[in-house]
Amino acid sequence: NAKEQGVDIRRYVPLMQMKAKERLKLENDLRRALERDEFFLVYQPQVQLSTKELVGMEALLRWQHPKRGLVSPAEFIPIAEESGLIVPIGEWVLTTACRQNKEWQNAGYRPICVSVNLSMRQFLQPNLAGKIAEFLKRIGLDPCYVDLEITESMTLDKEKAFEQLKRLKDLGVFISIDDFGTGYSSLHYLKNMPIDRLKIDRSFVAEVMEDSNNAAIVSTITSMAHHLKLKVTAEGVENEDQLQFLRQQRCHEAQGYFFSKPIKAQEFENIFLKPTIF
Ligand code: C2E
Ligand code: CA
Ligand code: CA
Ligand code: CA
Repeated sequence: NAKEQGVDIRRYVPLMQMKAKERLKLENDLRRALERDEFFLVYQPQVQLSTKELVGMEALLRWQHPKRGLVSPAEFIPIAEESGLIVPIGEWVLTTACRQNKEWQNAGYRPICVSVNLSMRQFLQPNLAGKIAEFLKRIGLDPCYVDLEITESMTLDKEKAFEQLKRLKDLGVFISIDDFGTGYSSLHYLKNMPIDRLKIDRSFVAEVMEDSNNAAIVSTITSMAHHLKLKVTAEGVENEDQLQFLRQQRCHEAQGYFFSKPIKAQEFENIFLKPTIF
C-alpha cells in the first residue's frame, strides 16, 4: 500500500476523487506544458528571526493552463509524480530557480539561498548529485546557495536515502526536511541522516497560539533542532504573535504570508532585493 511505499497519502486524495477521464486530460496537458512554456516560478522570502534579514527564498511552481487558468500544485504535482513527468518538470524548476539566483548575484544583490522542492522520483535518480554539480558549475553558482527540500517519507529507505543525501552533501548543497512532523521520521535515523535543516510544517505553526499541543510540538522540534545542531525554519507564519512565539523559542528562520505570499521574480526583486543594496 501507499503508506508502506513511503508515499504521502494526503497528496493523493484529490487524485482519487478526480474522475479518470479528467485526470487523463490533465496528464496530457501536463505533458505539453513544458514545451508550451506554461510553467513559471514564484518565490517566497525566508527571514532570519534574530536580524530580520532576508536569507533565502523558496521557489514554488505554478502552472498557467491555457483553458483552466492557474492550476494549483496540489492538483497537478501528484499527477506529475505518478506519471513520471515530475522528473523533467522538477529539473526545469531547479535549473530555472538556480539561474535566477545567479542572475541576482550577478546584479550585485547580497547573495541568498534558493530552496527547491524535490519529489521522490527526482530524489531517487542515481545520477542526481552529478547532474546538479555539473549544472551549478556551468552557471557558476556556488552550491552553498542551493537548498534542496525533501520530505520525511523520502528517507524511508534508509540506506538509499543516506547514500543519496551524502552525495548531495559532498557536493555542497544544503538539505532541508520539509513539512517536518507530518511524516514518518524516527528520531533514531534523524540523528544519522546528513541533513542541515528542519522546516516545521505549517499545520503546527498555524494554530500555535490557540492550541497548546501545537505550541508544545513547535517548541519541541525547535529545541531538538538546536540540540542536533540543525537549522530550524517555521513555515506558514501569518501573524506577529506567531513570530513572537517563534523568536522566544529561538527558531532561526521563518517563512509565511506575514512576510509575503510567494510572488513572481520581478516583484521579489523590487520588494526584497533592491532594498538590500541601498
Ligand atoms: P510546500 O513545499 O510545503 O510549500 C509551502 C506551501 O505553503 C506553498 O503552497 C505556499 O504558498 C504555502 N504557504 C506559504 N506561506 C503560507 C502561509 O503563511 N499560510 C498558508 N496558508 N500557506 C502558506 P503552494 O505553492 O500551493 O505549494 C503546495 C505544495 O506543492 C508545496 O508545499 C510542495 O509540496 C508542492 N510544490 C510546489 N512547487 C513544487 C515544485 O517545484 N516541485 C515539487 N516537487 N513540489 C512542489
Ligand atoms: Ca517546501
Ligand atoms: Ca512545507
Ligand atoms: Ca506542504
